[in-house]
Amino acid sequence: MSESERENRNIVLFPFMAQGHIIPFLALAHRLEQVTNKYYTITLVTTELGIPKLRLSLPPNSSIQLAGIPFPGDGYGLPPGVENTDALPYHLFSNFFEASLSLEPSFRKLISDLCSGQNGRRRPFCIIADIFFGWSVDTAREFGVFHAIFSGGGGFGIACFYSVMQNLPHRRNGAVAADEFSLPDFPEASRIHVTQISEYLRVSDGSDKHSVIVRKLLSFWSSTDAMLFNTVEELEQSTGLMYFRRKFGGDVVWAIGPVVSPVRRPVKEAGVTSEACTKWLDSKPEKSVLYISFGSQHTIAAPQMMDLAMVLEASGKNFIWVVRPPVGFDINGEFKAEEWLPEGFEKRITESKKGLVVRKWAPQVDILAHGAVSAFLSHCGWNSVLESISNGVPIIAWPFVADQFYNSKLLEEVLGVGVEIARGMSSRVGHEEMVEKIELVMNINGTEKGREIRRRAWEVRDIIKNAVKDEDGFKGSSIKAMDEFLNAAFLGRERRDS
Ligand code: UDP
Repeated sequence: MSESERENRNIVLFPFMAQGHIIPFLALAHRLEQVTNKYYTITLVTTELGIPKLRLSLPPNSSIQLAGIPFPGDGYGLPPGVENTDALPYHLFSNFFEASLSLEPSFRKLISDLCSGQNGRRRPFCIIADIFFGWSVDTAREFGVFHAIFSGGGGFGIACFYSVMQNLPHRRNGAVAADEFSLPDFPEASRIHVTQISEYLRVSDGSDKHSVIVRKLLSFWSSTDAMLFNTVEELEQSTGLMYFRRKFGGDVVWAIGPVVSPVRRPVKEAGVTSEACTKWLDSKPEKSVLYISFGSQHTIAAPQMMDLAMVLEASGKNFIWVVRPPVGFDINGEFKAEEWLPEGFEKRITESKKGLVVRKWAPQVDILAHGAVSAFLSHCGWNSVLESISNGVPIIAWPFVADQFYNSKLLEEVLGVGVEIARGMSSRVGHEEMVEKIELVMNINGTEKGREIRRRAWEVRDIIKNAVKDEDGFKGSSIKAMDEFLNAAFLGRERRDS
């Protein structure tokens, strides 16, 4: 293929419409733009209503193209105009997944138009789809385009999630396991507790609407040409990455992470500016602040919120806490401190300068990169995990759903960079126990176990730094993996061309 033919080629990226998915896809688009030196066109596809927001997330000099396709959400019981999961109540997620399947004809038309090469359109040689858009493999096949799935999640967490959904190992003879069980095709994950599967699955035999649609979405993975993970080979080689290599083949799985976006715009209204946050952190000693956030779309129950506030006061630690209305209220609605926090809590912690309560959205990446931050109390969404461990910040885990349970397990049992403090959106943990776990991770004069967690967090930070290093002739594992993947995609395309 000639140089000019290459230049006219396109890589199409197709993220699921949820912040936790769009953020790593934007980062991947940016990485591809960098590594291919703007050689290829990079096109990000989303729904028409999602385009303006996506545009705001691109740097001004970006060459990344955006393509909008209509979202036929009518008839799926979704609120009008809802084209992403940001404000979607949890019980409507399966409706949203179903509706997302109806994007297929418009996605197919988009690829068909691009393949026509008319009006300056650039023919795609590779489609990189979300883990929930594996169905796009049929379109890829039809037009002879290489197809990859990019998981914004990590290998271990997604492997456990995949195995649980496919095997339903917690069910035996129609009954749910009383406590622990193992994964038949993933023994490396060791034992899983029944509380480490999403609540909807615990009460289902797998025939409920949500399980059926999720299994259908996962079923396409076995047909794709490549699986990309936003993780690092050295961290997950012998667990999650090995699982998928065993399932789908040794040469189709690449760890290319962590990919990081250069632009960080608040997805929701910012509760504090980055400058104000940094100023507050600057006033605190090194490694003295606990950062608490449950990602872009989760919150805790009202009694848990009270518990956490009391625990924070009892711990005496400095903290930044991103608060949202508790479960059962509009997560994007007004936060009523007088109802959901102990009386006088905010006044006390503001006056004592112990804490900063941030409403709606905090500049998380900047916070985690600040030297004053000692630990992150997190729901273990994979983006949050990567942002934390890339900075050597250990994690105090409070997972709620899906792969978050297994990310927490990975952090504690495999990587040794965290400890789980609570689980799920209804369980209550004793205040003393919670204070002890915070103390364990944060107290620099504390136990050997705490020291080991912080030492490992630092080691993992270095492993990650190395994986994305590309200088003086040295290429880290993630850089090499991206090169190999792009070669395979390109050769795959030529092979089908011939
Ligand atoms: N995030 C942020 N500020 C907030 C909450 C979240 O910047 O107040 C970002 C965070 O940095 C991460 C993403 O939103 O990149 C959340 O993704 P994650 O995978 O951790 O969780 P999800 O939202 O998908 O559950």
